[in-house]
Amino acid sequence: MIRQFELVERVKAYDPGADEDALNRGYVFAMKAHGSQKRASGDPYFSHPLEVAGILTRYKVDSASIVTALLHDTIEDTDTKLEDIQDQFGEEVGRLVDGVTKLTRIEFQSDQAQQAENFRKLVLAMSEDIRVLLVKLADRLHNMRTIQYISKPEKRRRIAMETMDIYAPLAERIGMQKMKTELEDLSFGEINPDARKSILKRFEFLRDQGEGVIGKVIAELSRVLADNGIDAEIHSREKTPYSVWRKMQRNDIGFEQLSDIMAFRVVVGSTEECYRTLGIAHGAYPVVPSRFKDYISTPKPNGYQSLHTGIFGPEQQRIELQIRTREMHEIAEHGVAAHWNYKQGGVDKERPEYHWLRELLDILEHAAGPEEFLEHTKLEMFDDQVFSFTPRGDLINLPRGATPIDFAYKVHSEVGDRCVGAKINGRMMPLRSELRNGDQVEIITSKAQTPSPTWDKFVVTGKARSRIRRFVRMQERSQYEQLGRSILQRAFRDEGYEYTKKALLDVLDVFNQPSPEDLCSQVGAGHLTGREVVEAVFPGIKKKREDENIVPISQAQKKQAKDKGAEDGISIKGLIPGMAMHYASCCHPLPGDRIVGIVTTGKGVTIHTIDCDTLEPYSDMPERWLDVSWQMDGEIPNIHVGRVHLTVLNVPGSLGDLSTVIAKNEGNISNLKITNRSTDFFDMLIDVEVRDVKHLTDVIAALRATPAINSVERAKG
Ligand code: MN
Repeated sequence: MIRQFELVERVKAYDPGADEDALNRGYVFAMKAHGSQKRASGDPYFSHPLEVAGILTRYKVDSASIVTALLHDTIEDTDTKLEDIQDQFGEEVGRLVDGVTKLTRIEFQSDQAQQAENFRKLVLAMSEDIRVLLVKLADRLHNMRTIQYISKPEKRRRIAMETMDIYAPLAERIGMQKMKTELEDLSFGEINPDARKSILKRFEFLRDQGEGVIGKVIAELSRVLADNGIDAEIHSREKTPYSVWRKMQRNDIGFEQLSDIMAFRVVVGSTEECYRTLGIAHGAYPVVPSRFKDYISTPKPNGYQSLHTGIFGPEQQRIELQIRTREMHEIAEHGVAAHWNYKQGGVDKERPEYHWLRELLDILEHAAGPEEFLEHTKLEMFDDQVFSFTPRGDLINLPRGATPIDFAYKVHSEVGDRCVGAKINGRMMPLRSELRNGDQVEIITSKAQTPSPTWDKFVVTGKARSRIRRFVRMQERSQYEQLGRSILQRAFRDEGYEYTKKALLDVLDVFNQPSPEDLCSQVGAGHLTGREVVEAVFPGIKKKREDENIVPISQAQKKQAKDKGAEDGISIKGLIPGMAMHYASCCHPLPGDRIVGIVTTGKGVTIHTIDCDTLEPYSDMPERWLDVSWQMDGEIPNIHVGRVHLTVLNVPGSLGDLSTVIAKNEGNISNLKITNRSTDFFDMLIDVEVRDVKHLTDVIAALRATPAINSVERAKG
């Protein structure tokens, strides 16, 4: 624990005029008030306010803020009354402690807490005096540093989420970069411990690989700058796991590409030297494209200034440079606290960096309710975020550009999965609408709904995107599996065998598939044909199948000779007796189609439809053309294969609909090939077993009437 005189000395080191007496009395008052209370860690409770005060000394805040930090939990957690504090420490400290206490009460309301109202109070408290927020942030930081002592996982998680959503952005907004970074990283460790651990492992690996590199880089950079007459202070700065995680999410980069964990800060004497340093660095080393940012000429809204660039620096490492003056560095580290004016007491609210606070306060005074307040403010303090509400008034905080789908997934994964529509401020709006600050969003759900792949195109949050993709993958797999199974059943039956799962087990190795289900989905996805699988299971039938499509004409004529009741029932008129013929696999002619025979040396006659594209090369070889036609005199129809080209919406259930429609129309899918797949459509070729061209036309008409099917054409050539 920090001892009394240590605390006083730390404050006096940066503020010689600090109220030493108030600091001493604050220390003793808080210690006595908390008495024998213990924290979850087993430490004396007093260690907490003391640590909070300690954190604040690093930001060089005034003594009233330090005293407030010492007293910040006395009203809430001990018998102390606000009047006691006002009596002993005066109006200013009394007001600050009251402000922090109010914020603390907001925090510990039940889960149904009206967060919009809470948020309003938070803004109100901090706009009255920004020091309330400073103390609150330091309080939250210490609580996050000791969060592992809270035993309930849900509670840890809730606190971490709140820190990530509300406090870290607030810290950033007032320019406390270091505070923001630490809050985020601690929350990240609680929300996604596995990801954080694996990133840290990767860091370790990279660090081992680059052993000693940091020192070399600093030495060489310093030398290069010194040669050009610039005296710079260079520090290395390792990125936090959370910032790396964010980057991985934003850029879709994988772990292996994660190489530039090194960043260096170059602090120089003047703005002019910043630009000269940049020029020297760009002249001496190759530049990483599109990394350069000039926050000196255009500071961030919180007042941050620096030049950012990326170079392939000394040691051929990709590194990031932040170039700034000492004053800019001070502001970057301490934010609002860097502008502390001890003579005037507190922060100069007239500084342009704090206009947003004054504006918020102004709007707050004139708005009718919290929702209206949020709507009017456009909450520019969180310029990369949007705040919206559930119908119950719970605050849902999302990145800018978020849609009702993101909102639904943020509320609950189930709500996202079942989302069918959204009312924004009471009106039905498209799911792709961009949410605005203050929007009240009501998600309409249906048990029958499932995530749509088209959502993937407009959601912006990682959670929504990963849920949608996972679902689509699973759905696709199960559809392929179903489809594949029915193709296989048919293929087995055609050979006179019963389809069994066990039969598939025996050939898994042949196709390098881990399970029968996987084998089925390979068939369903068109990577394997049913026949290939059957032939693998019964190797003996292969030869027989090879001959099947080529029917010796003598046999065909024999069949034809049998009159009514012949098993074929259909034959080709115009063929030379004894000549072999087969149906072309390009156009799949069907009984009823106008057909032509093409004589192919060694292969007999191939039957094409008259409009088949592959006939083109034969146009000046009339000797090859054979006039043929169907002779339909049978009653028992034969089965022929027709091929269709389909474009199907890539939505869950579409492949199921497809196979159902074909089956209902007495067609059978004998083969399937997906020729193109995008997020919204599949293109596929399907071979359907039908009786004749009319049958195929019926099947095509039925498919065209199916909503999930975008277009169907008979494949020609
Ligand atoms: Mn506290």
